[in-house]
Amino acid sequence: MRAMAVQTSPPEKAPGTGSPEYPPARHFIAGEWVDPVSGQKVATIDPATEEAHGELARGGPEDVDRAAAAAARALEDPAWRDLPPARRARILWRLAELVDARRQDLALLETRDTGKTLFDSSRIEIPLVAEIFRYFAGWCTKLEGGVVPLPGQALGLTLRTPVGVCGLITPWNFPMLLAAWKVAPALACGNTVVLKPSEQTSLTSLWMAALGAEAGLPPGVLNVVTGSGSEVGAALAAHPGVHKISFTGSTEVGRGIQRQAADTLKRVTLELGGKSPNIVFADADRKAAVRGALTGIFYNKGEVCAAGSRLLVERTIYDEFLEQLAAAASRMRVGPPAEEGVRVGPVCNEAQYRSVLEAIEEGRRSGARLVFGGRSLREDLGGRGWYIEPTIFAEVDPDSRLAQEEIFGPVLAVLPFEDEEDALRLAHHTRYGLAAAVWTRDLDRALGFVQRLRAGTIWVNAYNLYDPALPFGGFGDSGFGRDLGRAALDAYTEFRSVWIQRG
Ligand code: NAD
Repeated sequence: MRAMAVQTSPPEKAPGTGSPEYPPARHFIAGEWVDPVSGQKVATIDPATEEAHGELARGGPEDVDRAAAAAARALEDPAWRDLPPARRARILWRLAELVDARRQDLALLETRDTGKTLFDSSRIEIPLVAEIFRYFAGWCTKLEGGVVPLPGQALGLTLRTPVGVCGLITPWNFPMLLAAWKVAPALACGNTVVLKPSEQTSLTSLWMAALGAEAGLPPGVLNVVTGSGSEVGAALAAHPGVHKISFTGSTEVGRGIQRQAADTLKRVTLELGGKSPNIVFADADRKAAVRGALTGIFYNKGEVCAAGSRLLVERTIYDEFLEQLAAAASRMRVGPPAEEGVRVGPVCNEAQYRSVLEAIEEGRRSGARLVFGGRSLREDLGGRGWYIEPTIFAEVDPDSRLAQEEIFGPVLAVLPFEDEEDALRLAHHTRYGLAAAVWTRDLDRALGFVQRLRAGTIWVNAYNLYDPALPFGGFGDSGFGRDLGRAALDAYTEFRSVWIQRG
């Protein structure tokens, strides 16, 4: 079945080759562009050309100190602390409008930094960034506490108050979007922020801070320090002036962050990796399920924490489904991400490219059957760009690395199952619990899975759909705490309890 070739396209001048405006290679601290204490800059690389396309400040612990101090001052500044919630809401709403107005530029920067298609960045992600700010703008005026019955003539109140200075650390797969997941609720709840984006994809986060200032955020409310995880991220996680860390990234780094944050008893939210099961029953709408399986794993080149990287298919339709899947995968165009019609761009960086190819090699050696793909397309596409074919393995051993480890690339492991119990057993045969999906026309069965699957997000007859109002987070090694929705308010507020004694 491997015979079908992926459609490729030569690298050519594409619609996305205009010149977006780049942010300065500086941190954004206390409302200003600030040089790093080190005086050093580092390049940011375009995975489609393998060339530097911009520069970033190389931050370190002293820069984190400056940003944390600015955030602490801003927390006590009446210009922010006493700002009426409705005014805070207006600033967030205005920030959303500025993001919309700069959509094309921001999308282009995101595509150059990550290799994601311009279609996805300009039509889906940047608009969603604006939606998230609008959604949380709405919460500013609704952060209500409660009235609690107390003995005698006393009256009890609970008041929601900001947690304080929030250190937000984000990965490279959805740079501005995941920053918005954290920055918007943190600000809506009245906190101040030091944001540390991935050193590979910091450009749009820097713009987020500058647009925030333009929208009216007082200086120091939203700071961005760029640099590596070991130099900036670790300093932020250990900083005594930071009250909360919200981290999205790999499980391994997440564990270390929790350890570091323990010394200063920071509150911690961890959004980590996954190996999510996408379960297809024989009675499912076949066309929709094939499409769902493909989007589940190949959307954003598989660099999605919730990717449906384990496809579980009912035995009776297994062979037929695999054929349909391979045929559909062969129609996905791989190529320069700014080109019209391209569905799969290059993976985000060289290390990732090597690690995905190595996982594919190990998959071959493990005895799994390669149904489609499995090759680098770098040479086919002009010798530059970290391109990898969408890859599908069948008959994957449930205990093998292909079925257990997060590959974080366009590699799908397909496993057959016999019945509902078998599907559930396989679905749970992992240390993660981020997302899952079930494809069936049987409502009763779907509800059974919804009630029993141990996963933070469960889709029924859908995959990879997100909404600002629906909380997102994981179980097990996928972390804890929730971003988005009303649940995010709990992550960024603390209750104060008040006892009012009469008589
Ligand atoms: P990563 O863990 O390597 O890095 C994430 C962030 O942490 C980056 O900003 C990095 O600089 C920083 N960092 C690295 N080492 C650090 C340290 N010692 N101390 C503090 N900060 C440090 O992850 P990545 O490679 O950027 O992203 C891919 C991973 O992110 C995947 O595992 C993916 O599943 C996960 N992810 C999870 C979600 C989710 O919501 N659960 C969403 C997207 C990505």
